[in-house]
Amino acid sequence: MPERVVQSYRVLVGMEIHVQLATKSKMFTGCANAAPNFGAEPNSLVDEQVLGLPGTLPVMNKKAVEYSIQVGLALGCQIAKHSKWDRKSYYYPDLPKNYQISQYDLPLCGEGSFELTLEDGSTKTIRIRRAHLEEDAGKLLHDAPGGFKIDHSILDLNRAGTPLLEIVTEPDFETPEQVRAFGQELQRLVQFLGVSEGQMQMGHMRFEPNINVHITDGDGKVHKTAITEIKNLNSFSVLERATAYEIQRQIHEWIETGSLGQKATYGWDESSGATFFQRPKEKEQDYRYFPDPDLVPVDVDEAWLSELKNQVGELPATRRKRYMTALGLSEAEAAALANDRATGDFYEKALRHGSSAKRVANLLLSHGRRLCNEKDCTLSELGILPERVAEIASLIDQNKIAASAAGAVFDKLMEEDAPPDDIAKALGLLQVSDTGAIDAAIEAAIAANPKAVADFKGGKQAALGSLTGAVMKSAKGLNPKLVQERLRAKLSS
Ligand code: MN
Repeated sequence: MPERVVQSYRVLVGMEIHVQLATKSKMFTGCANAAPNFGAEPNSLVDEQVLGLPGTLPVMNKKAVEYSIQVGLALGCQIAKHSKWDRKSYYYPDLPKNYQISQYDLPLCGEGSFELTLEDGSTKTIRIRRAHLEEDAGKLLHDAPGGFKIDHSILDLNRAGTPLLEIVTEPDFETPEQVRAFGQELQRLVQFLGVSEGQMQMGHMRFEPNINVHITDGDGKVHKTAITEIKNLNSFSVLERATAYEIQRQIHEWIETGSLGQKATYGWDESSGATFFQRPKEKEQDYRYFPDPDLVPVDVDEAWLSELKNQVGELPATRRKRYMTALGLSEAEAAALANDRATGDFYEKALRHGSSAKRVANLLLSHGRRLCNEKDCTLSELGILPERVAEIASLIDQNKIAASAAGAVFDKLMEEDAPPDDIAKALGLLQVSDTGAIDAAIEAAIAANPKAVADFKGGKQAALGSLTGAVMKSAKGLNPKLVQERLRAKLSS
């Protein structure tokens, strides 16, 4: 048996991602959408159209088209001026019409490219092949709810007809970590745009990596394995682990048998931590795509497109970068403020009142976040005005209140709106910055503590601390920073 040696190998992974859109109604009927109604009573979100009853006609959901275009714009895609709907025929119990309405040769979003930021801060361009809109199928269950074994399968059609955006990338991912990073960035993106809740455990996003490896053997000859696709992965951890497993499985299959495998669909078995063969890959002609005669094509004019572009605005990755480079925030601070649109908007409103970007960020990420956790709401729902946060930041920067006093002012603002200056006064938090009063207290402390003064002049830095303490104790609310500054100047003069 010839020995097969792997000199090196190159991994090529492309992704197909299905995103459920959070529209109120389904893709082609006014029936309530399952995505925002996860966990509804089985088969309660159905109507004649979802059931595929004769005589019913589909009507396109405009909002779903708008959401899809917004995602397409965010992924740098070309938006088609003209696209249409096609029937993808297959027979399965979760598809009552026996066809899925999808888009075949004229997808809504065409070629695009997206800058993915990797863990080490570098970026990688991911080419997007297309993104098209379709309807989801129902769910076939082989165990009864509660996990009870049954000898038949049961059907829940709530999910049938939910608007589904299918995004397809070129095979530009080289590692399982990149695949995961893209999945997470896409989740942030759809949440930021508000087009999907993006909750993995609710099936709002499902990932299908397709994987092959170019193996260079000991003689420098390249062997390309057949592309396999792992179906329906719905957690980031599984996405990364399944991809890593499948890469190694293909390489080992070649080493052991010399086989490059066949184009096929695989599943993931969490209990064994392994992928398993499901079936050879369907060919496109098996689906017998043809234009749906019941639906009119979608035409996107310039006015509609530019309106949608305006709604997309600045994307999280761009915002994060700007917060770091222009505002001097750390990566963690920038991510916490920029990943959610409402939080970022709140932050920027506060900044318009002219306070330090870093100070406002600190306040929002400490006290703002604490109050949001307590009230279980977002920053903009707290009821505190952005300009109040800016005013608190200014009070701290002008040494009018100590940074440690900010929490009490925030708490008071939750009860009623008032200028933080007034609140600090009422709570006795205003610091004395009157230099006359501070100097008098310093004189008194110096006179009362000759030994500490002598120690400091003899080189003992610690003596300054005890003198500062004595000054602070002698009067209420003295500004500690000013006290220390003026005390040091006095002793050094
Ligand atoms: Mn699909």
